[in-house]
Amino acid sequence: MELFIAVILGALIGSFLNVLIIRTPLDQSVSFPASHCMSCNTPLRPWHNIPIFSWLFLRGKCAFCGTKISAQYPIIEILSSLIFLSSAIKLGINFQAFGVALTFDLLLALSVIDYRYKMVPDSINLSALTVAIFSASSLGQIGYNFSNALLFAGGFTLLRFYLSYAIKKEAMGEADIMIAATMGALLGIQLGLVSIFVGAVLALPALLLTQGESEDSKQLPFIPFLAMGCWIVLMFDTYVSAYLAGLYG
Ligand SMILES: [Zn+2]
Repeated sequence: MELFIAVILGALIGSFLNVLIIRTPLDQSVSFPASHCMSCNTPLRPWHNIPIFSWLFLRGKCAFCGTKISAQYPIIEILSSLIFLSSAIKLGINFQAFGVALTFDLLLALSVIDYRYKMVPDSINLSALTVAIFSASSLGQIGYNFSNALLFAGGFTLLRFYLSYAIKKEAMGEADIMIAATMGALLGIQLGLVSIFVGAVLALPALLLTQGESEDSKQLPFIPFLAMGCWIVLMFDTYVSAYLAGLYG
């Protein structure tokens, strides 16, 4: 029953994520105007706004004008549900699990925006970092998350200085440093570094596939891979920690 609540909550927040994904890159307010058809602008009735199910009932079409509604809506809502479900299974039904799930939801929104618009809005990025720091079961843990975020932000800033000097152009953006800080806050130093490595390994095939393409399309969005790496390491943290202990034990 409690896990069912996590799924519902995930779908509802996923529905709001869709609004963030559509409106943030256009610099529009996320609260006004109310949900409406992107084509005919008719405001949606409440029953057109039920996550996942409305899209299925309407067969992916606007009830008023029949224009196709992107499958992105139900896909994001389903992914958000799965994020909340897995977080609840992993951490239990508590404030920390909610914070962790919300952080990954915001990273999901960032991933889609990064992929589609090649931009990373600071508003969502900083929200993810802030929620990650406060995803804790005690005050002490908030302090611990905060210091890990500082270490990762600082470490990546230093790395950026050296890299930029070495390749004689700006290496990594500020957005990457914020993401790194979020990963540090969520996972701590050791697992945070592992998750960046996992993200890089996941990005490798995509990097090779886009190699031959034009200069313009070479800009592979890295955030989706970092977010996936972070999620995998968090879900399997006991295995990763045991493996690391075996390596350095
Ligand atoms: Zn319409």
